[in-house]
Amino acid sequence: MGELTEDLLSEEIRAARETVIRFMRNEVVPVMDRYEERKEFPFDLVRQAGELGLYGAIFPEWAGGTDMGYLAAAVVCEQIARHDARFASSTNQQGGTCPCCIFAAGADEQVLKYVPNLLAGKTIGMMSLTEPGGGSDPVGNMKTTARRDGNVYRLNGSKMFATLANVTDVGVLFAKTDPGAGAKGVTAFIVEPKKYPGFEARPIRMLGLSQALDSCAIFLDDFVVPVENRLGAEGEGFSIVMQALQGGRINVAARAVGLAQACLDEALRYLNERELRGRPIGTFQMIQADLAEMVANIEASRLLVYRAAALMDAGRPSNRIASIAKFHASLTAKHAADKTQQFFGGYGLAQESRISWLNSYAYLYFNGEGSTNVQRVLIAEDALGYKNADRHAGKLRFRDPRCAPAPGLNSAREGRVEEGK
Ligand SMILES: Cc1cc2nc3c(=O)[nH]c(=O)nc-3n(C[C@H](O)[C@H](O)[C@H](O)COP(=O)(O)OP(=O)(O)OC[C@H]3O[C@@H](n4cnc5c(N)ncnc54)[C@H](O)[C@@H]3O)c2cc1C
Repeated sequence: MGELTEDLLSEEIRAARETVIRFMRNEVVPVMDRYEERKEFPFDLVRQAGELGLYGAIFPEWAGGTDMGYLAAAVVCEQIARHDARFASSTNQQGGTCPCCIFAAGADEQVLKYVPNLLAGKTIGMMSLTEPGGGSDPVGNMKTTARRDGNVYRLNGSKMFATLANVTDVGVLFAKTDPGAGAKGVTAFIVEPKKYPGFEARPIRMLGLSQALDSCAIFLDDFVVPVENRLGAEGEGFSIVMQALQGGRINVAARAVGLAQACLDEALRYLNERELRGRPIGTFQMIQADLAEMVANIEASRLLVYRAAALMDAGRPSNRIASIAKFHASLTAKHAADKTQQFFGGYGLAQESRISWLNSYAYLYFNGEGSTNVQRVLIAEDALGYKNADRHAGKLRFRDPRCAPAPGLNSAREGRVEEGK
């Protein structure tokens, strides 16, 4: 696996990869089906993953991270998804967009209060942007409002598809403080649903996806958020999420590569094992043609994802390549899952086989963190010269985990480079 990319990885990252593989094989894979059957969230596994540092790669040590970087994070997420795509949903909530938003725009006190516990798996995270009106245009159709009432905000409205909202302790949720102001009216909040009234999360039963790590509809009825839990200033919410989503995109792309590799692992085993007409079906040339395409796509996707992550680590323009990586990896995962399901014939639909649900996760990766079509638009507009995908490079408005100095030296208002200056 991955000879093309092996020399891009440091000894430290390879060691981290071995740790993940051991953890997934010994602790997660043997028990995850039982959590699914009981529809029970695996708190203890998330805690163990946190203790091993699997969520902390992109954060500095002062915030509870391991300071290993985006490339390490991509390798870790890839291996988690390769072994269990269901459990991999925790990576974005514990070590991706949720803590990224808090880290990016939070005051030091907010970061220290919330981020280390999320990375350690002691508290459960959530990031809720999408609304029923459309995830691809989250601002245009955002109806959720936040009204200031003395020392608190009161939030009203509904959200869709918020992963882990039914178990979250600390999430980041976006609402309009100025409904007439478009993107500039969106504000980010750190929400604590177990502490304050007015928050209801209902799991949505998704075809072929986890029943232990749910995505939920959220209903907010005068939901209370203390003013000190606002992230950044009023109106900064959209900029915060856009910055955090870039890391999220790499997370989803890496998970897609891991899922495609899981399909390949299953396919290689089965194609040599299953015999028809007196020989393994792997000897049939039409099957080999599909397999060759899978192998080539996976190698190319992994290269793209690692390259995008390495550019992020180097602080170089990476938005365009991250979009290309996400686009390519999600197509690769879908192709690999489709073909593997076909290789398995009727058994590819059997619910006890993981082949049946790998395809659902491949479909999910089409949508998460900017759908495949949204990536297409971004890539094409950049190619046509309409909109440079890297136009914000070097103008980060908020803290970037890879470049943030120690606390006390950096306040929420002092990003690495102020936008527009
Ligand atoms: C399992 C799951 C978990 C999720 N978890 C979270 C979460 O934790 N937090 C959160 O905030 N959201 C989450 N989401 C939401 C996810 O980000 C959205 O589903 C995604 O943004 C797409 O939004 P939508 O489903 O409303 O589709 P829509 O935005 O309605 O899009 C419909 C179709 O139109 C296409 N489209 C959109 N724009 C264009 C265009 N310009 N040109 C051509 N085609 C276009 C899309 O690709 C899609 O095929 C999750 C979704 C799922 C399914």
